[in-house]
Amino acid sequence: MDYRLSTMDYKHYLCRMERVVSGVRPTGQIHLGNYFGAIRNYVRLQEQADCFYFIADYHSLTTHPNPADLHANVREVLVTFLACGLDPEKATLYVQSDQPEIPELYLILNMLAGIGELERTVTYKEKASKQQDNLNAGLLTYPVLMTADIILHKATKVPVGKDQEQHLEMSRNFANRFNFQYNCEIFPEPQGFNFGEDLVKIPGLDGTGKMGKSEGGKNAIYLGEDPDSIRKKVMRAVTDAGPTGTNQPLTEPVANLIAVMKAVSSPDTVQFFLDQYAGGSIRYGDLKKQLAEDVVAFTAPIRARMLEISKDDALISRTVKLGAEKARASGSQTIKEVREAIGIKRFF
Ligand code: AMP
Repeated sequence: MDYRLSTMDYKHYLCRMERVVSGVRPTGQIHLGNYFGAIRNYVRLQEQADCFYFIADYHSLTTHPNPADLHANVREVLVTFLACGLDPEKATLYVQSDQPEIPELYLILNMLAGIGELERTVTYKEKASKQQDNLNAGLLTYPVLMTADIILHKATKVPVGKDQEQHLEMSRNFANRFNFQYNCEIFPEPQGFNFGEDLVKIPGLDGTGKMGKSEGGKNAIYLGEDPDSIRKKVMRAVTDAGPTGTNQPLTEPVANLIAVMKAVSSPDTVQFFLDQYAGGSIRYGDLKKQLAEDVVAFTAPIRARMLEISKDDALISRTVKLGAEKARASGSQTIKEVREAIGIKRFF
């Protein structure tokens, strides 16, 4: 298959539809939270919008990953994208560091970002309290880099999980601030997107908080995880001593398991366990067994495709190359407009 597009094709391609941009950091394996918060929507959106999905390797540098791990993780995210059904011919799939226009726009936007507003970002404040030994400027300016990623392609829709809500608000502010400062209308306002529903938060298995890659592996279920490991993790998930009467509100750990169940199980199954809880007769062992089997059934086909695709080096390198070309065609156009707006022009 020839993935190359002519210049005319690009022009047609780039002005066709509404723009969508979103990315995933290559900081570990992709889990159910990444899938239901973001990647599931990526797949649906590629059929109806002009989508740019990237692997955010620059973002992952805030934690100083080992270079060999970083390289392997970028590959793994790409394999997962393809295994989940993303199609390099329908969407632009690229690696963030293949697009030099991103750091350029990031630098320019940094001149418009206030230290105070960056310091007030909730994720930054969390990091500041947890990891004082590595509180680098990259963490502080994370929302600026994220804005550059998004507005470089003039995105209007950003399919992300609920954890990104505040960052997106900042992206809107930075985009508007640029337009105002330079008296132009280069950037539209990017909005979080989940097909009209609220943004999703998939909780972890440890009773509290969201499913995440960095919580030591016990609270997340990975799309490529083997069935036995999934079963063990789910059976060890935190619950409580059980309801002490009828019609009690769900406690946080149980509500979390039900939330994961809502993502992977049928509505009847969810209702069955909710009724049992309301009746005060729920057996958490049964709930977990059912949840484990439903997660295994859900992830098995994705895992099988991941194993297949990870052997296909030609497909992987073709995808990355095509994505870089398409992303650069779009990004270089925006950077040209930005340079003109701010008065940086070529004199030769
Ligand atoms: P990250 O792994 O932080 O790069 O996140 C990639 C995408 O997955 C982002 O759109 C996040 O909002 C989304 N995401 C990460 N964790 C969760 C979660 N537990 N629930 C829902 N969405 C999530």
